[in-house]
Amino acid sequence: MRSVLDEALEAGAAVSGGRVVTYVPALAEVDPGLLGVAVATVDGGHVFEAGDADVPVALMSAAKPFVYALALADRGLGGMREHVDVEPSGGRFDAAGTMPGSGLPYNPMTNMGAIVTTSLVAGDNPDARRERAVDCLGRFAGRPLTPDPEILNSQRRAGDRNRALAYFAASTGAMGADPAEALDRYFAQCAVRAGTRDLAIMAATLAGRGVNPLTGDVVTQPWVARTVLSVMATCGMYDAAGGWMAEVGMAAKSSVSGVILASVPGRLGLAVFSPPIDEHGNSVRGVEICRHLSRRLNLHLFA
Ligand code: GLN
Repeated sequence: MRSVLDEALEAGAAVSGGRVVTYVPALAEVDPGLLGVAVATVDGGHVFEAGDADVPVALMSAAKPFVYALALADRGLGGMREHVDVEPSGGRFDAAGTMPGSGLPYNPMTNMGAIVTTSLVAGDNPDARRERAVDCLGRFAGRPLTPDPEILNSQRRAGDRNRALAYFAASTGAMGADPAEALDRYFAQCAVRAGTRDLAIMAATLAGRGVNPLTGDVVTQPWVARTVLSVMATCGMYDAAGGWMAEVGMAAKSSVSGVILASVPGRLGLAVFSPPIDEHGNSVRGVEICRHLSRRLNLHLFA
């Protein structure tokens, strides 16, 4: 496996293009040459890694599937769909569009849908709700994870677009909490940092019906993992989700920090990290590495 990962990194390093995100100033300072990959198996929890797999990265949108899992477990799929749907948007991750007819956000993988999802996490008070989401990310990873204060502040300062999306969602009645509170929690989950290795374990937990392969912790129920993976498969790569599914064929989630995590149910979770992203918000080298691994390890879901 180690040599397969080295080969995949080489394939990734051979492509160029994309740009490091700049709208969150703290993310703009990252070294664009960082490149890491990790795979975690569902059976036995074996973890393989190569390159910069231990460098902590802001999760940003990679947190979305896991907070969706938490809110789904709290409210059920029907309850969630009264606030945020599960349809691909065909638009950018930060688009302000809503579903024709219902006026709901398209899905929990877009920023608007994710802010609404965060607003629906249960808890007695704002601190408890925030803590539950951050704690849940750590349980998926098998170790405690925390928001990085510098990234959090940077997100808040650069947060006008997300603020607009939150208040827009509130105006349609989709929001489950005060928009300011939901935003603060959304920024906190985005600012949580984890290594590529952690992300592979998080993906493997979804691939393993909600059981963390390292700790054995039952992080979520099989129906929740199945639902989250379904939404990742159709919406996780934004408006590149169709091409991704045809070529790579995994349930996946990308983030503007250059992370992509992907799950192959019953087999493994994988994660890649390379900061330059394309026009869809997906890591250019990350996509290439996943394409390579999909072919090399026969990971396409429909193969
Ligand atoms: N946290 C990022 C934002 O709010 C999420 C976007 C992303 O990673 N695609 O803008």
